[in-house]
Amino acid sequence: MPYIRDEKSLERVAGEMAFSRGQAYYRKGAVKTIARKDNFLEGVVKDSDPDPFHVRIRIKGLDNFRSAECTCPFKLGVMCKHSVAVLLHWVHYVAITAQIDVGRMILLDEKQLKANAQMAPLTAKTLGAIRAGGHY
Ligand SMILES: [Zn+2]
Repeated sequence: MPYIRDEKSLERVAGEMAFSRGQAYYRKGAVKTIARKDNFLEGVVKDSDPDPFHVRIRIKGLDNFRSAECTCPFKLGVMCKHSVAVLLHWVHYVAITAQIDVGRMILLDEKQLKANAQMAPLTAKTLGAIRAGGHY
């Protein structure tokens, strides 16, 4: 299954349309919480609809994408825009976090996600700089 390590690889998996819609959700702070437990990422995404949507993404390790489910009715391709928004947060979180204990539950709250969404787009180059300990 495909790896999701930065925005480009996520876009390749999600498809251009779902990606650009998800990116808009990501930027305006529609993702409220993300929890990672075992091989699942669970996200709550709320926009103008009265009820939030619940996303459940199966991953292996930190970046090996398996499948995505969402409570929304939009089944377009591999994943919907809500799943894209959650995964954008996830790839950014993984990139800026030096050590992640994969056995532990990770909970990202609204404040953390807001800071996350202000990050510049991640490219392979900036990712390399981050992992090398530099600034970008
Ligand atoms: Zn959805």
